Amino acid sequence: MPTFIGSIDQGTTSSRFLIFDSKGALIDYHQVEFAQYYPNPGWIEHDPIDILESVYECIEKGLKKFIDKGYSVTDIKAIGVTNQRETTIVWDKFTGKHLCNAIVWCDARTHHLVHDLNSKHGTNALKELCGLPISTYFSAVKLKWLLENVSTVKEAHENETMIFGNVDTWLIYNLTGGIDGGLHITDVTNASRTMLMDIKKLEWSDELLKFFGIKKCILPKICSSSEVYGNIKITSLAGIPIAGDLGDQHSAMVGQKCFNRGEVKNTYGTGCFMLFNTGADPVISKSGLLTTVGYKFGNEEPVYALEGSIAVAGSAIKWVRDNLGIINETNEINNLAASVNDTGGVYFVTAFSGLFAPYWRDDARGCIVGITQYTNKSHIARATLEAACFQTRAILDAMNTDSGHPITSLKVDGGMTNSDICMQIQSDILGIDVDRPSMKETTALGAAIAAGFAVGVWKSFSELDEVNSKDRTIFSPKVSKEESEQKYKTWQKAIERSLDWA
Ligand code: ADP
Repeated sequence: MPTFIGSIDQGTTSSRFLIFDSKGALIDYHQVEFAQYYPNPGWIEHDPIDILESVYECIEKGLKKFIDKGYSVTDIKAIGVTNQRETTIVWDKFTGKHLCNAIVWCDARTHHLVHDLNSKHGTNALKELCGLPISTYFSAVKLKWLLENVSTVKEAHENETMIFGNVDTWLIYNLTGGIDGGLHITDVTNASRTMLMDIKKLEWSDELLKFFGIKKCILPKICSSSEVYGNIKITSLAGIPIAGDLGDQHSAMVGQKCFNRGEVKNTYGTGCFMLFNTGADPVISKSGLLTTVGYKFGNEEPVYALEGSIAVAGSAIKWVRDNLGIINETNEINNLAASVNDTGGVYFVTAFSGLFAPYWRDDARGCIVGITQYTNKSHIARATLEAACFQTRAILDAMNTDSGHPITSLKVDGGMTNSDICMQIQSDILGIDVDRPSMKETTALGAAIAAGFAVGVWKSFSELDEVNSKDRTIFSPKVSKEESEQKYKTWQKAIERSLDWA
């Protein structure tokens, strides 16, 4: 009997449904992009219905391809969910209707609120408790903003008629029946990004709830990342259990099989996120990194991670395409960047909505410096790719400082790793090997692994040794350490300009 596991991967720009076999091989998938709304400068919203509809479409079309190959839906033993994190949705618990658009993780509308909280309490006031600095990034400030600025949300909170969830919670609630008994749950990894969970106890913290003025009754139940939560009731997947739930970056960490302390992965999607497995200990960073839950499988002990988050990576390429118009397709940036040997001294700090790790400055702004008469669009294209790579270097340095163990090789994934030139630039800037798997859907694979463990498809991590281990591409440094250090020093000057701007 063939055994398959499905994975719903709900990202910032697109949704996917993927089907893996019990060897971790990708059998079929379907992907749908959905609308981004920018109602004001710095604001980014999603319509929660767009998110649902895109996921349902992916499920039906992905399943059709699978069935056309002669398989049956009943061969799928479990479904894992992985999602864009921190994005905040509130809905009416009696009607199931959302009260407003979702505030997306990289939305910076809470800038003033964060500034006030930081002036009063200090950026790191809550770090020991939840592992995070006070920033526009996390759900609690987005929720506080909604309570203070949207009267329907304020009223529904007071009357306790609304419930809150990140995208995993919204999807699982709707897939398991919505107002007709839908589950209101999340997992420890998603909960660790709300700023409302005690990072050691893995429970909602009364102190944090009080700090932000949020009622506990609106929050989902916190579960592990790998257990049978309940059965799907709608779509052609009806009857199949949902058995895995992980925030996308945590899922990529599982999908890259970073199961041992010291293992690290970096995912280049809309933003860029490096996670370093710190084992059973939640290490509080002294270098501007976040403390987060890596994953927790069933009743096993949680595994923690240090995270370095970059708000803008692949989205800068979209900006070059849509706002500058110097390319028509994302992929064209690579040929343009490859048509020159270097950026001609141009540096592009893509701080469109401030800078995340290790700076945590909401007021930083983007800048392009070093432009001369000689500069052309190829230099700008190359500088756009370099921006994600230099920011990754800053995070790698912070990881090395916090852990005391220099990282010697970096496992990578995400849309931007399709770019060979970008990965070569990354290796040159870091001075270490960059290791790219042949099957790049590691985020979806992680959720499938979590779901597969919960229903007994796999029982130990050693059974995954062969998964996605063949045909990996290794990019090794091709420039001298001196050249690389010199460029990084100049990049740091560009960062100072960006931080100085406000
Ligand atoms: P997310 O899950 O955040 O939606 P993905 O992992 O799907 O992100 O990656 C999407 C990003 O990858 C886009 O922002 C896009 O700019 C970038 N990208 C996709 N294909 C390429 C490519 N061939 N070269 C460079 N960047 C790419």
